[in-house]
Amino acid sequence: MSKRIENELFICEGLPDFKKFTPESIQNEFPKVIKQLDKDFNNIEIFFKQILQEGSFEWEKIMLPLNKINEDLRWSWGVVSHLNSVNNSENLRKVYANLLPQVIKLGNKIGQSKLIYQTLKGLKDTNNFDKTKNRILNKEILDMEHSGISLDIDLQTKFNRNSERLGELSTKFSNNVLDATNKWFLILEDQSQVEGLPERVLEMMAISAKTHLKKESQVDPMKGPWKLSLDIPTYTAFMTYSKDRHTREKLYKAFVSRASKDDENNIPIIQEILELRQKQSNILGYKSWADLSLSTKMANEINNVEKLLEELREPAYKTAEKELANLNKFAHENGFNKNEKIESWDINYWSELLRKEKLNLDQEALRPWFPLEDVLKGLFKLSEKLFDINVVEANGEAPIWNEDVLFFNILNNEGNKISSFYLDPFSRPENKRGGAWMDECLNKSRDKAGNKVLPVAYLVCNQTPPSNGKPSLMSFDEVQTLFHEFGHGLQHMLTTIEHPQAAGINNVEWDAVELPSQFMENWCYDRNTLLNIAKHWETGEKLPEEDYIKLCKNRTFNCGIATLRQLHFAITDLRLHSNKSEYKGKEADQIRREIAQNTTVIEPIDEDKFLCCFSHIFAGGYSAGYYSYKWAEVLSADAFSMFEEANLENTKNVKATGKRFKDTVLSLGGSLSPLEVFKLFRGREPKTDSLIKHLGLSTAN
Ligand SMILES: [Zn+2]
Repeated sequence: MSKRIENELFICEGLPDFKKFTPESIQNEFPKVIKQLDKDFNNIEIFFKQILQEGSFEWEKIMLPLNKINEDLRWSWGVVSHLNSVNNSENLRKVYANLLPQVIKLGNKIGQSKLIYQTLKGLKDTNNFDKTKNRILNKEILDMEHSGISLDIDLQTKFNRNSERLGELSTKFSNNVLDATNKWFLILEDQSQVEGLPERVLEMMAISAKTHLKKESQVDPMKGPWKLSLDIPTYTAFMTYSKDRHTREKLYKAFVSRASKDDENNIPIIQEILELRQKQSNILGYKSWADLSLSTKMANEINNVEKLLEELREPAYKTAEKELANLNKFAHENGFNKNEKIESWDINYWSELLRKEKLNLDQEALRPWFPLEDVLKGLFKLSEKLFDINVVEANGEAPIWNEDVLFFNILNNEGNKISSFYLDPFSRPENKRGGAWMDECLNKSRDKAGNKVLPVAYLVCNQTPPSNGKPSLMSFDEVQTLFHEFGHGLQHMLTTIEHPQAAGINNVEWDAVELPSQFMENWCYDRNTLLNIAKHWETGEKLPEEDYIKLCKNRTFNCGIATLRQLHFAITDLRLHSNKSEYKGKEADQIRREIAQNTTVIEPIDEDKFLCCFSHIFAGGYSAGYYSYKWAEVLSADAFSMFEEANLENTKNVKATGKRFKDTVLSLGGSLSPLEVFKLFRGREPKTDSLIKHLGLSTAN
């Protein structure tokens, strides 16, 4: 129907020739893509109008052109946003910001087309499709309905007005957090106020003091002055290492009261956001914002989330209480005033001292045991064993965007290529954004000639680059991150689903998408896997057993306190959005304090207005979804425990379980509901026991 995009640069097929995509060429060529896709969209609408008149609803006729336009947009904008993340420059950033509104506009046009919506409804109502096709259709239809498409004109006007207002409020919310964070500072001049801080932190604080005071003199990290501020690196370091309890208290109080007063007051904003969200969910026919949010997630119902969080809360609370008592005891034995108990601003500090004494683990010193090449070898060997695949280096086979980028093929057990991936491993602050992620380069599909297109993934990390003749020596955290992203990649690359809308990570519910990635992280703590990888890059010596044990102990150190904190966030988020009768007429802060009674072991102080900085739910996409972190952790721990039950030492059993994992979780993607997929693998519904065990949470009274 619609013509293929005739554009030398944006060919929308195959691997992008990255070197050709310069800010100038993108600026010149991308608007043509938008223009072409706009035409395609109009043609689709004309065509769908005809279908609606004739009443001849067929899958291929409707879904192929829709998929094509979405895929063309994804491919084209995908290259631009990928390069914006990994090969950034001032010019590219400008071009990106320039083009983004056009992309959003086109996306909204497609997502809010009444003709498309009616055609999809017609397709669903007049056919009896299999589960996968039904899932794809239901999701498309529900997404469109959640943007207000099926409302009558009055309600739609109201809905759109509310949406706009919600957008403004969340922008205002995050600006307030930012402004309040930047506004507060203390200039420290007394040596005693910075005692205990590592040199790199002192240096960071001395440099910001110099900039702040506009001093000409040289920075002396040892002499000061030092600027104490609320940005996360400074805040965390100071709370962890500073011996000055009084300043820690000041800093803590400033931190937890951010954006709760004066010009940056988020309290009324929170109230308005919550009220508007409630209205929006009612307009769309849901009882609450949480019901709306969960309608597209694996958890499905508020009660399911409450139940899972409560199952974790009980042991986490008991463990946290013990950890706190232990911390008090340790502090009292080491000079802390016996008539006092440790407070929130003491936790990090005493935890770090206790960690040092108990574990004596120096993560930096372990790096020589984790050179990238060996870590990759170990990861690939594990994948061979578990999933019966072969990962082979294929550098030079594909165009790349930076010479550090590696390229690999994945072969099946008959030696046939089934997918490929890029790995961009090293940190490059000058042109690459931080963090780690997996993204789709090519989706499993068919090209215009009907040939199979194999999936290709981008795996991007930000680990320590090679230097001074040393290879990239990874921290244990960096190793886990690589395993994590590879897990996402596996789900994208090992998919067997032919419908691109449900292949790989597509159509996988938001709270289930971290299952394969967190699952892979578990293997970093598997004795065989880790000791197989960890060899000293110079001497070839194996990682000493005691270091392995320390890493395992570190995993569960003060896990009760950390887990309880996450649960406090998750439960608060859920209940604020659940429209519960017991909370009617109460302010958000009051509700939070009631929840805190059994989700914190140190009661929040009066100054603590943490909701005012809870950007995840008031300015990000996590509202009524913060629980997802724990939900996915439960799934991945439970999946891993099937391998433990099969006995990690028994290769034959591990292989059989690995095959099962591959044939279900990794293959089926979003073609079935995540619960069905999980049950196909595990033989039953997920349970919380394994996570409780892995985190070392106590179930005893
Ligand atoms: Zn992830």
